[in-house]
Amino acid sequence: MKFVYFFGCGVADGNASMKAELGGKGANLAEMTSLKLPVPAGFTISTKVCLDFLKEEGNFSPEVKKQVEESLRKTEEAMGAKFADPINPLLVSVRSGARVSMPGMMDTVLNLGLNPSTVEALAKKSANPRFAYDSYRRFIQMYSNVVKELDSHYMEDCLENYKKNKGYHEDTSLSAEDLKSLCLSFKQIYHKHLGEDFPENPFEQLWSAIGAVFKSWNCNRAKKYREIHSIPNDWGTAVNVCSMVYGNMGNDSGTGVCFTRDPSTGENIFYGEYLINAQGEDVVAGIRTPKTLSLLEKEMPEVFVQLQDVRKKLEKHYRDVQDIEFTIQEGKLYLLQTRNAKRTTQAALKIAIDFAKEGTLTKEEALLRVNPQDLDKLLHPTLDPRAHKQVIAKGLPASPGAVSGRAVFTAIEAESWAARGELVILVRDETSPEDIGGMYASQGFLTARGGMTSHAAVVARQMGKCCVAGCSSLTISQSHKSVKVSGIEVLEGDWITLDGSTGEVMLGKVETKNAELSGDFNTFMDWAKECRKMKIRANADTPRDAIYARSFGAEGIGLCRTEHMFFDESRLPYVRQMILAKNAQERKEALEKLLPFQREDFVSILSAMEGFEVTIRLLDPPLHEFLPHTDKDMMSLSNQLGLSAEDIKQRVKALYEANPMLGHRGCRLGISHPEIYEMQVKAIVEAVEKCRAQGKKVYPEIMIPLVGIAQELKWLRDRLSKLAPQIPFGTMIEVPRAALVADKISQYADFFSFGTNDLTQTTYGFSRDDSAPFLRVYKQEAILHEDPFAVLDQEGVGQLIKMATELGRKTNPSLKVGICGEHGGEPSSVKFCHSMGLNYVSCSPFRIPIAMLASAQAAI
Ligand code: ADP
Ligand code: MG
Ligand code: MG
Repeated sequence: MKFVYFFGCGVADGNASMKAELGGKGANLAEMTSLKLPVPAGFTISTKVCLDFLKEEGNFSPEVKKQVEESLRKTEEAMGAKFADPINPLLVSVRSGARVSMPGMMDTVLNLGLNPSTVEALAKKSANPRFAYDSYRRFIQMYSNVVKELDSHYMEDCLENYKKNKGYHEDTSLSAEDLKSLCLSFKQIYHKHLGEDFPENPFEQLWSAIGAVFKSWNCNRAKKYREIHSIPNDWGTAVNVCSMVYGNMGNDSGTGVCFTRDPSTGENIFYGEYLINAQGEDVVAGIRTPKTLSLLEKEMPEVFVQLQDVRKKLEKHYRDVQDIEFTIQEGKLYLLQTRNAKRTTQAALKIAIDFAKEGTLTKEEALLRVNPQDLDKLLHPTLDPRAHKQVIAKGLPASPGAVSGRAVFTAIEAESWAARGELVILVRDETSPEDIGGMYASQGFLTARGGMTSHAAVVARQMGKCCVAGCSSLTISQSHKSVKVSGIEVLEGDWITLDGSTGEVMLGKVETKNAELSGDFNTFMDWAKECRKMKIRANADTPRDAIYARSFGAEGIGLCRTEHMFFDESRLPYVRQMILAKNAQERKEALEKLLPFQREDFVSILSAMEGFEVTIRLLDPPLHEFLPHTDKDMMSLSNQLGLSAEDIKQRVKALYEANPMLGHRGCRLGISHPEIYEMQVKAIVEAVEKCRAQGKKVYPEIMIPLVGIAQELKWLRDRLSKLAPQIPFGTMIEVPRAALVADKISQYADFFSFGTNDLTQTTYGFSRDDSAPFLRVYKQEAILHEDPFAVLDQEGVGQLIKMATELGRKTNPSLKVGICGEHGGEPSSVKFCHSMGLNYVSCSPFRIPIAMLASAQAAI
């Protein structure tokens, strides 16, 4: 069996399609090698070996050892140097690489193979002792930290102190002698904390490092990352052993990161950062502030031309924007990694559209390139331009959006404040992968160091959070939990506001306003509309929501709840009068007063949705919800209505229900108090007349809630359709019985609308309002993977929907079927609805773009 895959000199055992075995990094190193791009030779040890290694408690099989040794030999040949050789030593990096990129989650060791004799050989061979000892000290640091898990601050502090004593500001000021002496100090630190000598045998170094990378698959921060991103634990990571190339050889060397297009805006410009005389992660670690790629054109024009060639070649080959790591060694370019670039949603849209326009992708392929859920991020707020703002600092605009929150200074604080329901902004010198939980809990991040490709920036873009990075005027004191800037001190818990689009940091809470959608967005939505089969409607109860919904592309209202119209302050007295009426006459009088209100509500919402259908659901909640419950409120109602307080109390008592959600509500109420629904239907009819008189084309539909028995619907329809013979009449399916007898119900219905919130509640027997605590446990224990109130339960609730749709259409082939409820805007649920042949989904206005795109993707 093949465990180890070689790449070098234009040939590779693997290729880009082998991500499961080789990890993303390994698969792409192989692919780039085959494309004849300058990749230093090396080999990838497959994820299978990782899983075996973790199972076998740290042992490698003889077969794996043999294959590694063979590949190492090939690598030596390709590079013309020999591992562990005291005259012409080959050094390698040992790098992790999982199937999907887990930025910064796993660890890498560079310059492996150095010891007192190889370092001298390297110094001699390169005629550059400074470089050799810089590589050695880096190796000791990384090896100690990654392989031996020694806290990195011991050696970092040692380095900082050394620089301070010498009066140096930059690492580049350290001389060969300085670095040599630092290597000795580092080894002493190593000995002191680990009780053993730093290993000098390169083979021992190699195998320990390979083992450590495999083990890092199970480190806490990697586990946490997988949990957040739903990555299976049993994928494992591959290990890449790669010949070293050196960006730290002097001023004709360097290292950098580039993107084939701007990952923040999607613009077709070559975007990136680099550092001269630096190695590995110096660029992303934020130790020195990197230069923008455009400077490279001046500093190293030849390398820049080569890099531009790489840009074209890789983007064309992968048909996607690439994120490339490169190193320049003495003026020669090497590529160390490429992957599909993480990008903001704005960028994702622009890139997908541009690629389609350039002919690289079809429209359908372009539509598949954007994750529907991400569209949410486009609807992020921006600062209200009229709001007063006190800008206290400015950093890099690393990830868009504008947010306010309370300043916290550690990831742990962020998590605990957020758990208390506070909005927080994480303020750090720089973030690191350990902070991931706290970052998730924060509204946004503010860092003092690091560039546009720093950890904080990358994570923010991925999470769709706001980030201002590299804000160097901040003086952060973690121990005092404060940050000083422009003579102001911000303490833990103080409000600040970030604008991730400008990089501004503001004191206090600044008003934000909702996003305005770009031309790209509209183009993309138009394409989605062309491809999808299902219609997208909105759940909207007010003309304002309806107007919003239309601006997002809604094609009607799937659920217009009428109860809020009853809660309005000006109407509540009449509602109460209706409920408390002693006889039918009194009740009728109260309803007559309510009718004009309802009519005007319907006129405005039907007008706002002119040209589209509006499904109006008749009153659903139990009546006692409209009554006062405190003595004081009862007293004031008693004065208002001229009823005795005692009478009111009695009536409230009579309406009390032990389990109101399963109580006297929905169609049950409509049947026991038919005059309420009659009034609502009359109001609809009058509203239609009024609209039509104004020349408006309006299309209401009447929907009865909570039907479980066909006779309920028949009873109501017989009665109500006399008042509104022309208006379509249908029902919500939200109790399991309705689904079971859907063929009977559909004889009296023109449409079904699955009320999946209640249908989930009634199918599981989980209370919508009380299930959060145990659902959390259920998720932890893997009893449920998703909250069924957020993601439609396809195997349970979904089967009821499927069955009811089929049964319903059997007896009524022209039955129109849709869903309303939270699931209507959740991509996997939308795709499921498409597969069942539903006519529409209805969701909250802000999720319409998500539903539209998910619906198009389902149809492609
Ligand atoms: P990550 O997954 O965190 O990106 P990498 O394995 O890509 O980790 O390595 C970390 C850094 O070290 C990157 O900047 C990479 O370019 C650099 N690096 C890795 N291998 C080599 C090598 N053989 N020569 C020079 N630099 C390397
Ligand atoms: Mg890393
Ligand atoms: Mg990398």
